[in-house]
Amino acid sequence: MENHKKHYIAIIGGSISGSVAANLLANSGFRIVVFEMNALPYGKIEDGLPKWHIKLRNRQIKEIDNKLDHENIRYVPLVKIGRDLEFNDLLNNWGFSAIILANGAWQDREFPVPGIEKFRDRGLIYQNDFIFWFNHHHEADYQGKQYEIKDNAIIVGGGLASLDVVKICMIELVRDKLKEIYNIDEDMFKLEKYGIDKVLESHKVPYKKLNISGVNLVYRKNAEDMPLKSSKDESKASRDKARMVSAKLLNNYKEKYKFNFKPLRVPIDFIEEDDKLKGLVLQKVMVYNERIVPLENETEELRTDLIVSSIGSLPEQINGLQYEFSALKMKKHVDYHVYGYDNVFAVGNAVTGRGNIQESKQHGQKITRRIIDEHLTDDALESWIKKINNSLKETVSQNVESIIEEIRSKDIQPDKIIQSILEKTKDLNDKNGYTTYSQWVQRHLPVRLEEIPKNPKE
Ligand SMILES: Cc1cc2nc3c(=O)[nH]c(=O)nc-3n(C[C@H](O)[C@H](O)[C@H](O)COP(=O)(O)OP(=O)(O)OC[C@H]3O[C@@H](n4cnc5c(N)ncnc54)[C@H](O)[C@@H]3O)c2cc1C
Repeated sequence: MENHKKHYIAIIGGSISGSVAANLLANSGFRIVVFEMNALPYGKIEDGLPKWHIKLRNRQIKEIDNKLDHENIRYVPLVKIGRDLEFNDLLNNWGFSAIILANGAWQDREFPVPGIEKFRDRGLIYQNDFIFWFNHHHEADYQGKQYEIKDNAIIVGGGLASLDVVKICMIELVRDKLKEIYNIDEDMFKLEKYGIDKVLESHKVPYKKLNISGVNLVYRKNAEDMPLKSSKDESKASRDKARMVSAKLLNNYKEKYKFNFKPLRVPIDFIEEDDKLKGLVLQKVMVYNERIVPLENETEELRTDLIVSSIGSLPEQINGLQYEFSALKMKKHVDYHVYGYDNVFAVGNAVTGRGNIQESKQHGQKITRRIIDEHLTDDALESWIKKINNSLKETVSQNVESIIEEIRSKDIQPDKIIQSILEKTKDLNDKNGYTTYSQWVQRHLPVRLEEIPKNPKE
């Protein structure tokens, strides 16, 4: 254990998977630096889950805090690897024994219609930006992008996240109309929890009086193909059951939030008028043997003033790492050991590009245990440290010569390297006025909205 304590590991990203990895390593005697691009380490919990998930969010945030507020973990916020600090610098010049990527998937998959990108934030919005706006625009000091939801909006997607986008649109449209026509200030949490009809009933307002046509969810397959419920196993019976549940879930959502569902359509072009985005051209398709087959000469124009793309997120690429089919390139047959390096690993959404909280936690646990057992053994560390000695020798200036001498003589991560990691992280944290983890978090927690009312009439 004492020997392990000599070794510092860097973790990129402090949210679900990063905090699990950091805590497990810290409890095993390693010392950790967590680099986090935001002030708070809550990742998709803060900026991905829509803000009505109050209990889930608060529970997860508490867990992350409990994991990161640890004597063996040094938290370094507001440092984005690849922007504020180069990955190669971290790898070659800092002296970490290993680096674990837990940076999630923050790059929206590009909307697959050539030329439409010029309308980004002028009619075309991506899911990550959209949810960030929804979660934070009530804050007095919010300075991010501003969006306006349109009744005829098209949401392209098909996963659970796209249903969140659809829900946000419908809830906000109903709130706007209730205010505009009846001067009623309705609560967002209530509409989410009880559904549109129940809340309108409590005001004795029929839905049709609001004159809302409803947003359109465009999906390339059928309701039962949506990945809303995972199959228990690979058997046909389980898969059929999951498909049935997915279709049922979608139907419940449709009834509760009153949006339109347009299955079996794939966007192939956009409609532009006077330099404004005015709609999408959709190719009608069929699903044959799980494959999407276009139907000849069957297209449809769907006019709109707003398209929200919710077709998935990918890991944001970091200079110095290799990517394959938009995913982090891994060593053959191992889904956590990053290609090209002995001591770089990845956990959570950064590997899978998708998944849920539970999956990210389990992946973080399982992989970190393997990293400890198979890659952070004393032998592995020694041979890696010998390697870094050579690279240090080539890349750092004269005053580190003495450190290299020390490594040569002892064959371990020397105190001077540890001291240098401590100093560098302290410099970064001093710049931001960081004191302790709990004080920092308290200082940066955003304003939260009020709790959910107990019934729709409240
Ligand atoms: C709209 C939506 C709704 C969802 N709803 C649910 C739900 O109801 N239930 C559920 O279980 N799951 C849900 N999920 C999924 C769940 O939120 C994620 O799977 C999980 O939180 C991912 O955890 P992670 O640690 O792998 O990644 P992230 O939460 O993305 O964490 C990555 C961390 O790395 C940081 N980071 C990224 N790049 C860098 C960098 N270069 N340098 C430094 N730091 C960096 C980020 O700021 C972040 O803190 C939802 C996701 C979305 C998008």
